[in-house]
Amino acid sequence: MRGGLGILIAVGLAVVLLLVPGCARDGDGQKAGQGPNVLLIAVDTLRADRLGCYGSDLGATPRLDALAAEGVRFERAFSHAPWTLPSFASLYTSQAPPGHGAGGWRGELRQLPEAARTVAECFRDAGYATAAVINVDFLGTEFHMTQGFEHVDFEAYPNNLEVRNATRTTDAAVKWLRARRERSFFLLVHYFDPHLVYSPPAKFRRRFAAPQDRNNTRWVFGKDAQLAAYRRGWVQFEAGTIRRAEMLYNGEVAYTDQEVGRLLDALDDLNLKSSTLVVLTADHGEEFLDHGSFEHGHTLYNELVHVPLILRYPGRLEPRVVGEMVGHVDIAPTICELVGVEPDPAFSGCSLVGLLVGSGKWEPHAIALEGNFWGWPFRGWIEDGYKLIRGPVGAKLFDLGSDFGETRDLASAAPERVSRMTADMSAAFDALAGAGHAARGSVELPDDVRRRLESLGYVGGPPETADNAPTSAPTTRSQPASQQASQPAPGTDRDR
Ligand SMILES: [Zn+2]
Repeated sequence: MRGGLGILIAVGLAVVLLLVPGCARDGDGQKAGQGPNVLLIAVDTLRADRLGCYGSDLGATPRLDALAAEGVRFERAFSHAPWTLPSFASLYTSQAPPGHGAGGWRGELRQLPEAARTVAECFRDAGYATAAVINVDFLGTEFHMTQGFEHVDFEAYPNNLEVRNATRTTDAAVKWLRARRERSFFLLVHYFDPHLVYSPPAKFRRRFAAPQDRNNTRWVFGKDAQLAAYRRGWVQFEAGTIRRAEMLYNGEVAYTDQEVGRLLDALDDLNLKSSTLVVLTADHGEEFLDHGSFEHGHTLYNELVHVPLILRYPGRLEPRVVGEMVGHVDIAPTICELVGVEPDPAFSGCSLVGLLVGSGKWEPHAIALEGNFWGWPFRGWIEDGYKLIRGPVGAKLFDLGSDFGETRDLASAAPERVSRMTADMSAAFDALAGAGHAARGSVELPDDVRRRLESLGYVGGPPETADNAPTSAPTTRSQPASQQASQPAPGTDRDR
């Protein structure tokens, strides 16, 4: 067993690694504002394991697989939170959730502090044209998430069935690309389709839906009233219903793949392929009973935080697959180094350039997880190949090397590792909260924004129930095994 000094050293080392990564740098500098372009594609709610290049046999993602084949694919990349707002805030600020403070819990929502500096601000200040095509209010001005973007393209929606779809999202991005002038650009494109409601276009429904749903475009899953009832614990879904929903989700993934492909084709058509770094990732995944529950925002298991991460930069990055565990906080420093833009000093992640070029310059560092919206406020910590998930009462420990699906809890078998990782995590979280912006205070939303978020099921938390009480960790917010039959109400398909 380690002595107190050893623990102190370990804690100190973890904090230093997290806060002051001292990352090796491999890139050469570019003249600011005239460097390569950056296209950051973020697909909402995209599980890594639905991509062929991550092992799926669905055949749903030929375009993303082709992108990966041309670039560098990270097999083990993690978002820092299982829902949109805190996850994107980490991507933008290179801070884990306790550092940037954006997020919320059970209906209370916190915006990104204005003092936090985003990667878009770094690019804007370096003279780049910056733009964001976004499809959810969590990425909008009310949450201070448009900091640094000179141009923001967002369409309000009356309900969650009518959020701008991937076709129109790609159209908006291509329109901006065609209209841009001489400056280099930093463009974020956010696709929302794999998020509820699951309602893929007919072509993908016919291919991926359960047999009884292939020609029934009225069967969609996750409309706002249904979602609100589920999130409040008023209805639960049979396992068979979740499976049918999952097949529709797969269709949404395939549809998004097609439209991301069309965006990449446009880049090619505009002769921008060789001068543009493309980064593709997701803010979080989606659970389909992997650990007994459904959807996202309620646990820190890998079906929610293991995300795809692909970088393509023709002529600069040779195709390769990287196995090291990395986090979203590493992306902003990586983009900055690759294209020669000065990163913000507060960025806490490590540039991945050493891994991208295979130089070996890489110092493994712990990955912090936080930010549940519906479940109890779990914290997670990935270190030395193990993952710790701590709830208010208990802890679970998984060996991600041998058990990436997190089916064997090792906490009782490895109490020393649990206590060591808990100490590392607590010290790092305290340091992040102290050093970061972390302004706490719920945001007052205008009525229209609140209504839109309610239509996605996000405002107004569920009542405390036996399922989400903190008696053990982690819990799930509902147990479909209780089998209260509830068929989704039929609705109309989205117009695509
Ligand atoms: Zn999301």
